[in-house]
Amino acid sequence: MSAATIPTLLLNSGHAIPQLGFGVFKVDATETERIVADAIEAGYRHFDGARIYGNEEGLGRAIAASGIPREEFFVTTKLWKDDQGRHGAHAALEASLERLGMESVDLYLIHWPHPGLGRAVETWLAFEELAAQGLAHSIGVSNFRQEDLAAVIEASGTVPAVNQIEVHPLLQQPVLREFQEALGIRTEAWGPLGQGKVDLAVEAPVLVDIAAAHERTVAQVVLRWHLQEGRIVFPKTTSPERMRENLAVVDFALTDDELAAIRALDQGRRLGPDPAIYD
Ligand code: NAD
Repeated sequence: MSAATIPTLLLNSGHAIPQLGFGVFKVDATETERIVADAIEAGYRHFDGARIYGNEEGLGRAIAASGIPREEFFVTTKLWKDDQGRHGAHAALEASLERLGMESVDLYLIHWPHPGLGRAVETWLAFEELAAQGLAHSIGVSNFRQEDLAAVIEASGTVPAVNQIEVHPLLQQPVLREFQEALGIRTEAWGPLGQGKVDLAVEAPVLVDIAAAHERTVAQVVLRWHLQEGRIVFPKTTSPERMRENLAVVDFALTDDELAAIRALDQGRRLGPDPAIYD
C-alpha cells in the first residue's frame, strides 16, 4: 500500500485530507515515536492527535525523523477543555506546535463543546484568528451537537471544516451527519471500529458474512463502509500487522445491499461520553 492510493477529500478550507489516517488516542507517550514510525512505514500520512493524549512530542519526532517532507503529512491536534476561551486557544495551539516541533497543524479542533462551560463560541472566534495567522490550515470541531454547530456558525459566519464524532455500526448518527453534509462539514468518525469495547463480529454476525464474501476481515469491512459513506477515519492499533490490514481497504467495494445491511445495525448505542452531559 502506498500513501498515493489513499483517497483524499476536499475540506471547505480548500485543503485536501487523506480519508484514511491513524489515531494516537491511548498510545503510550513512551512508545508513540516508535508506533508512529511503524505507521509511516506502513503508508499512513494522516495522524489524528490531541493535547490530552499526552503524546504530541512523539508524534512530531516520528514525522521529523521519517525524512519525508512535512507537507506530505496531514496532522490534527485538539484543544482541551481547560484551554477554551480566546487567550487559552492562542496559548494552547502555540504549546501544541512547540511539542509537535511544527510551524502549523493541518487541522485544529475544539475537542468537546462542554455546553455547561459556555465558551465554545469564544473559542471558535479565536480559532478563526489562528487560521488567519496560518497556524492551522483548517479548523473544526469535535463532539458538537446540531445546536453547538449552529451557535458557532451563527456567531462567526465560518463553517467548521469537520465535526469529529463517534460513529461505528452500533452508533451511526444519521440525523447529525445529514445536517453536517448540508452545510459542507465533513464527518470524521472516531472509534470507527467500536474502540475495541465491543466485538462487532459477535454483535453483528452479518459483518462476518460480508467479510467472508470479500475474503476480508470484519475490521476491513467496517472501515470500507465508513469510506464508501464519505467519512474520514483514523483507526488506532499498535500492531504493524493491523496497521497494514486497516490500510488495505481501497481495493474492494461493498455492494448497495451490503451497505444497507450495515446501516440496519444502528442501535444509537454510544460507547463513549454523551456530549450533552460531558462537562
Ligand atoms: P478504534 O475504533 O480505532 O478502536 C481501536 C481498537 O480497535 C484498538 O485498541 C484495537 O484493539 C482494535 N483494532 C484496531 N485495528 C483492528 C483490527 N484490524 N482488527 C481488530 N481490532 C482492531 O477506536 P479509537 O482509537 O478510540 O478511535 C480512533 C481514533 O479516533 C483515536 O485514536 C483518536 O485519534 C480519535 N478519537 C477521538 C475522540 C474524540 O473525542 N474526538 C474520542 C476517541 C477517539
